[in-house]
Amino acid sequence: MQYFTRDGSHAIVNLLLKHCDTPNIEIHNPVSVLEMQKEGDEFRIICDKGEVRAKYLIIGTGGMAAPAVGATDFGLHIARKFGHTIVPANPALVPLVFDPKEWEPFSQLAGVSLRAIIAIGGCVFEDDMLFTHKGLSGPLILNASSYWNEGEELSINLCPSIDLAEVLIEASKSSGSNKSKPASILEQYMPKRLEAVMVGALPPNRNLSELGHKALRQLADSIHNFRVKPTGTQGYKKAEAMSGGVDTKEVDPKSMQSKLVDGLYFIGEVLDITGHLGGYNFQWAWSSAVTCARALKSRLSE
Ligand SMILES: Cc1cc2nc3c(=O)[nH]c(=O)nc-3n(C[C@H](O)[C@H](O)[C@H](O)COP(=O)(O)OP(=O)(O)OC[C@H]3O[C@@H](n4cnc5c(N)ncnc54)[C@H](O)[C@@H]3O)c2cc1C
Repeated sequence: MQYFTRDGSHAIVNLLLKHCDTPNIEIHNPVSVLEMQKEGDEFRIICDKGEVRAKYLIIGTGGMAAPAVGATDFGLHIARKFGHTIVPANPALVPLVFDPKEWEPFSQLAGVSLRAIIAIGGCVFEDDMLFTHKGLSGPLILNASSYWNEGEELSINLCPSIDLAEVLIEASKSSGSNKSKPASILEQYMPKRLEAVMVGALPPNRNLSELGHKALRQLADSIHNFRVKPTGTQGYKKAEAMSGGVDTKEVDPKSMQSKLVDGLYFIGEVLDITGHLGGYNFQWAWSSAVTCARALKSRLSE
């Protein structure tokens, strides 16, 4: 689901600022928080522009994705400092890259996009996939990347709408006279540039009836079960999220308060929660913030 504003994102920022326009809220922006400590029952927050003391501290510093817009590991550093366990963090919702030599036959496909299916980490995704010069991207791959472990091979169905073996063999039975080539069938179901690469491994100039059922089945399998082994991801620079983070076992889901340090709260992406594409990461950031705000409000009114 996508929500668009008529007046741009500033309209949302201005609305939130308007809600904060009360005497008990102070906004310090821009500011860099350099360190945080607990002294007695107070937190000491050391910033580049001075110090702040507070009874309660909410860490909402996000993850490490997109360092160009200020993402750092600061939240993880603070959580670790207060004794929290950190589930190892990795770039998530990120394009995958391959060994340049192994990827060479496919690098010419950069820009080709198609609907495909992938099963990974107990999930099945069906979405658009994009070939790039270095590897694979598009929503299908971004979602899959959150489940991919280094060294793992991917198996992608590049033609999920039909059973290609059945269609090719059926066509081969009637192609004796008209000399149809596999390409004439495949191009009905996939982008022409991709089809040309996939039939490239077959003996040239053979028509369907000359190839035999075994070769046609192998061709179909290479498309339904396109196996490739990424060497890595494009990293936090290109990631839309971070997997891993503050272990949720050590945070009370009803208040977002740390179970280890009284008065310390965690919200948003700094926690080990990663959503699929589709607004779930924003939703988590907002929902956890609301949960935390409600819990703190009732604590303050006690
Ligand atoms: C390119 C891109 C596209 C995305 N698209 C989507 C999308 O379409 N839908 C979706 O649901 N999610 C999307 N996400 C993910 C989403 O933006 C995050 O999950 C969400 O913003 C996390 O919210 P947060 O409040 O936890 O952290 P953030 O929004 O990252 O906010 C944390 C803030 O803390 C500040 N900060 C950190 N450390 C310090 C410090 N030491 N001192 C001062 N300030 C500090 C940071 O500068 C930042 O402003 C996208 C992310 C990226 C990078």
